[in-house]
Amino acid sequence: MAYRDIDMNLSAETLAIQKEVRKFAKDVMRPVGIELDQMADPADVIAQGSPLWDAYKGFRDLELHLNSIPPEYGGTAGTLDPMASYLISEELGYGDVGLTVSFGASGMPFGFAALFAPFIPEMEQMVRDYVEDKKGEVVGCWAITEPEHGGDWSLGGEAPECGPSVTGVLKGDEYIVNGEKAAWVSNGTLATHAVLHVGLDPDKGMGGTGLALIPLDLPGISKGAPLNKIGQRPLNQGSIIFEDARIPKQYMVLEPSTMVDMNMGETILAGANGGMAQIFAGLAKAAYDEAFNYAQQRVQGGVPIIEHKNIKLDLFKMFTRVEAVRANSRRMALYNAAQNALGQPPSGAHAVAAKCLATETATWVASKAVQIFGGNGLTKEYPVEKIFRDARAGMIEDGVNETLGLAAAEFL
Ligand SMILES: Cc1cc2nc3c(=O)[nH]c(=O)nc-3n(C[C@H](O)[C@H](O)[C@H](O)COP(=O)(O)OP(=O)(O)OC[C@H]3O[C@@H](n4cnc5c(N)ncnc54)[C@H](O)[C@@H]3O)c2cc1C
Repeated sequence: MAYRDIDMNLSAETLAIQKEVRKFAKDVMRPVGIELDQMADPADVIAQGSPLWDAYKGFRDLELHLNSIPPEYGGTAGTLDPMASYLISEELGYGDVGLTVSFGASGMPFGFAALFAPFIPEMEQMVRDYVEDKKGEVVGCWAITEPEHGGDWSLGGEAPECGPSVTGVLKGDEYIVNGEKAAWVSNGTLATHAVLHVGLDPDKGMGGTGLALIPLDLPGISKGAPLNKIGQRPLNQGSIIFEDARIPKQYMVLEPSTMVDMNMGETILAGANGGMAQIFAGLAKAAYDEAFNYAQQRVQGGVPIIEHKNIKLDLFKMFTRVEAVRANSRRMALYNAAQNALGQPPSGAHAVAAKCLATETATWVASKAVQIFGGNGLTKEYPVEKIFRDARAGMIEDGVNETLGLAAAEFL
């Protein structure tokens, strides 16, 4: 039986967008993701001629990279039906979460830069370069995690020893920046631009953090080697090193006091985790679909295994949780989009709850899918072992679920 989508009142335009993105996710992202996943050396993922660039080109040809950019700079932000925006993320996550995270991070500095473009000419140029790029030559990243600071970013901490290790000191018209962002930065080794969290007032710990939007070809900035890991292998990750890097003053777009006044901690948590909830809802559905289809074909004991009651019941439990996650992620996404449209703060608590639920459910459903595939579930001949590895990384990505939960509990 076909998977029945029960959301009512989807416009013809929204359904057409969903169909187009689903096709890209199935025909391009899924096979490219599998090919990249099987590359032994993560440096090959981002090498010239890698199929990664076909995926980037496809994503940008569909103009999906414009979703975070306002119309005055050539983007589509705020013009799409919020449900269409949600479905785009879910379908991309269905195709490949590692590639989806790469695409999402690639736009982050530019979405932010558009907010400052009316006042800072360099920001406007940054946004325009990104909008026009169709090949993946202008790629962003979000550089927050450090070798010494991971889970604790979401928890803050006002003592000096809690503060960022990447620090900046203003000298004349430039900040002199030193320190290292961790090998976990998504797109770290291929990015041309970054959203950079940098300690400007060490006495205030995490409360002394400012936000810079920078090109990564400034003097004193270098990159580490691509990270080798078990899940989301199509997603390039790597460290960014600052050695007396000179960052023009105007790139430091938010001073620590403004970050605190604007409650940027919750806004950033809500944005990043809200996005994760949507794509992992898609991944959970991908795991379910693979298991359902396989169970109809695999014959054991003289019948397709879906005829065995244990398999049938497991599939129903998987379906139940996938639907719960999709419903919850949609509800959160639509609420936070409405808040955004009104210029009101998003709900960080709902976004973190949805991220934790989606990543934990995706991991559970993918593990069940491996079980339903039996021995075949453990081989690279079938997609579920990769889906399981990709899902597992989600419970650590963009904040460990436990520390995120502790942080979000404060928003209740
Ligand atoms: C696929 C993927 C993509 C990522 N992308 C990015 C990215 O784009 N940019 C970026 O900057 N980072 C990124 N990260 C990094 C990610 O945010 C961190 O890995 C995460 O925040 C955890 O930090 P850590 O690995 O240093 O673990 P640690 O902070 O060392 O945590 C280890 C364990 O200790 C617990 N713990 C840590 N601190 C505390 C505390 N204060 N109180 C209680 N318990 C604590 C945690 O719950 C965890 O179980 C990514 C990670 C992954 C896996």
